[in-house]
Amino acid sequence: MELQEQIKSVIRDVPDFPEVGILFKDITPVLQKPQLCSHMLDYLAKQCAKLNIGAVAAIESRGFMFGFPLALRLGVPFIPIRKKGKLPYDVVSHDYTLEYGTASIEAHTDAIEAGARVLIHDDLLATGGTAGAAAELIHKLGGTVAGFSFLIELEFLGGRKKLSAYTQDITTLVSY
Ligand code: AMP
Repeated sequence: MELQEQIKSVIRDVPDFPEVGILFKDITPVLQKPQLCSHMLDYLAKQCAKLNIGAVAAIESRGFMFGFPLALRLGVPFIPIRKKGKLPYDVVSHDYTLEYGTASIEAHTDAIEAGARVLIHDDLLATGGTAGAAAELIHKLGGTVAGFSFLIELEFLGGRKKLSAYTQDITTLVSY
């Protein structure tokens, strides 16, 4: 079986979570398959090899699951992006609009070196609001967005178009 098919056969669809009408793509069954995870990381690392990545930034909390091991594979520092109030040291924040209300994400002020080429990673690309906010945060920290990577893309929500304002280098493992 091809890698994409293998991943799709393991992702679990959970209807109406966390709200009625959302089909939640649950990656926890993927985490139970270490060999599959390793192949997924190989694929992402290969796709990112040409981008000259200086750091990987990932979004709390499902983004950390593959984001940190991806940074290790690429041999670059890891930057945790967290929701407001979770990081202990001085932070830079970015507020963004959600379907209902606003949210705020943060990173430590010393998280990246000026001009660093950063790959932004998350588990899933939907509308692109979260990853776009992460890109704005990286800019505030003095970094450049060198690429995005996701395990899953929900193509019908158009996130890729939104993120193309930052870079054309958007890698996804499986799409729906
Ligand atoms: P968006 O900002 O609309 O691109 O949404 C992406 C963020 O919301 C990611 O951090 C995902 O983990 C989460 N997310 C959105 N839709 C889903 C879904 N259908 N299944 C799982 N996670 C989702």
